[in-house]
Amino acid sequence: MISVEEALKKILSYVEVLEPERKPILDCLGQVLAEDVYSTIDIPPLDNSAMDGYALRAEDTRGAGESSPRYLAVVGEVAAGSMPTKEVRPGTAIRIMTGAPLPEGADAVVQFENTDEVNRKSSGGDLPQIGILCQAKKGLNVRGRGEDIARGDLILKRGKVLRPQEIGVLASLGRSTALVIRRPIVAILATGDELIGVDQPLAPGKIHDSNNYTIAAEVSRYGGIPKILGIGRDSVQSLTEKIDEGLDADMLITSGGVSKGDYDIVKDVLAEHGEVGFWTVCMKPGKPLAFGIIKKTEGGREKKVPHLGLPGNPVSSMITFEQFARPAILKMMGKKILAKPAIRAIIEDDVADTDGRRLFARVSVTRRGGQYRASVTGPQGSGILTSMAKANGLAVIPENSKGVKAGDMVEVQMLDWGEEQGEVETLPIVSIVGKSQSGKTVLMEQLIAEFKKRGYKVAALKHSHGGMEIDHPGKDSWRFAQAGSDAVLVSSPDKLAFIKKLNHDLNIEEIMPIVGPEFDLVLAEGFRKSKTPKIEVHRKELGDDLLCSPEELSAIVTDGSLDTDRAQLPWGDTVAVADFIEKNFVLKARTVPSTPRGKKVK
Ligand code: AMP
Ligand code: MG
Repeated sequence: MISVEEALKKILSYVEVLEPERKPILDCLGQVLAEDVYSTIDIPPLDNSAMDGYALRAEDTRGAGESSPRYLAVVGEVAAGSMPTKEVRPGTAIRIMTGAPLPEGADAVVQFENTDEVNRKSSGGDLPQIGILCQAKKGLNVRGRGEDIARGDLILKRGKVLRPQEIGVLASLGRSTALVIRRPIVAILATGDELIGVDQPLAPGKIHDSNNYTIAAEVSRYGGIPKILGIGRDSVQSLTEKIDEGLDADMLITSGGVSKGDYDIVKDVLAEHGEVGFWTVCMKPGKPLAFGIIKKTEGGREKKVPHLGLPGNPVSSMITFEQFARPAILKMMGKKILAKPAIRAIIEDDVADTDGRRLFARVSVTRRGGQYRASVTGPQGSGILTSMAKANGLAVIPENSKGVKAGDMVEVQMLDWGEEQGEVETLPIVSIVGKSQSGKTVLMEQLIAEFKKRGYKVAALKHSHGGMEIDHPGKDSWRFAQAGSDAVLVSSPDKLAFIKKLNHDLNIEEIMPIVGPEFDLVLAEGFRKSKTPKIEVHRKELGDDLLCSPEELSAIVTDGSLDTDRAQLPWGDTVAVADFIEKNFVLKARTVPSTPRGKKVK
């Protein structure tokens, strides 16, 4: 049995970076640049205006203000795309549009909003002169020539992966093509007598081929060009024919026929054509794996095509693709980062690993309270492709670990990242705000008790402007802090306190990673400047006005009635306030279906 790392190292030692090709920049997305790109021009090519406004001499605006306009004679206008025909002399200005070259003599642009143009327009006057309402510094709203890119600079380096912004930079340099490492053509072949095409009706004993599709989509996703060869039958002749068709590709990926079954003849056929290795890789799913080099003579020269033989089970073939084919494709494309992005997450289920192999558990990762949580996506059989469809990551349970327990920290390779991951579950946070003496603390107490009664795990945060009661002078913790410790933790058998010196007032988002993710709801008192949902406590006796503006509030708890479109909840009716919070925040936050905790995974 070889390790995942050994298998990968061996595979990568047989694949080479492909040759470069020159092609239109729009076709280069995701490809690696194979040339250094220097600029032959300045961008912007000329000093120009960053605003619609008036180009003028800054010194002509000295002393200008809202109530003391400086009047300048308007001597012309210049639009983006044309050149100014006049210059700005003392006491004059030229009306200018964003992107238009700055006229000779001008050294600043004052935007329309800081002139009296708007008033003049509404009174129907044309503009022989303009009132400037602010004092301009030299260079105001002027974009300098070469400010972004200077002629002769190295702008994009060989090896750079081209994203939309690099493609835009190439366009701005006036380049319609780029030299990039070519995309690999990957031939894909499913094998098995039981397989039929997607468009064929099912017959007894048959199943639709899904591997060809999963693998082709994976190849495209990572930048290769898939070439589906179809379905090879479990006969030497059928496989030989199909594999021959795949030999003009840069790589061949087959699925199925590599285990110890009687009809598993992929290996026999491959042994005929070149070198082939059969590996038992220390991983689950995906133990049997074939890797070899198929030799072919083409125009008298010997060509070698790397072949990766993935197991047939749909989950196994996809996971082995991710571990071995993906890095091979990326290497051929000239990419340097081959590892999958991984995070550390808290696993929410027990996962047993009985046979000592590295286990890739399909998990759904969500982020709660600043921490990642990974929950197993149901039954984990290697034929259950929907376990992949529900997953956005693979939790890596190390070999010889016997598994992990719910609550353990695990590494998770992310299958999807960023926006593709969709909405993530977030820990609901609601802060209770209000004027001093409005009864915030009373409401907090009542809500905490109410939510505990409803079975929730609640964390309470308090924003304190002054000192902290728990930070008592004379206590050991206080003495440690006095001695200069930046953080002091006091841990007892049933409580933990954490006192840390701060150099700024934290907002709730910054505090949450310390609170941890295990709560169902965080109730905060104060924090009126935070962006988390807020409920204000309003009491008649403290006046009609509110502390926050109504738009910032989710609801108002009041003993009066206010003229506002915000939800108003009666002061004293804790159940109604708790219902509101539960319905709008606690239940809504659970957009990801949660799986039963602590179940065993085979
Ligand atoms: P094998 O590795 O050929 O023994 O296949 C293992 C399992 O995966 C069998 O149950 C096959 O029916 C299934 N399988 C093999 N190839 C495919 C495929 N292309 N699409 C769906 N299932 C497949
Ligand atoms: Mg088979």
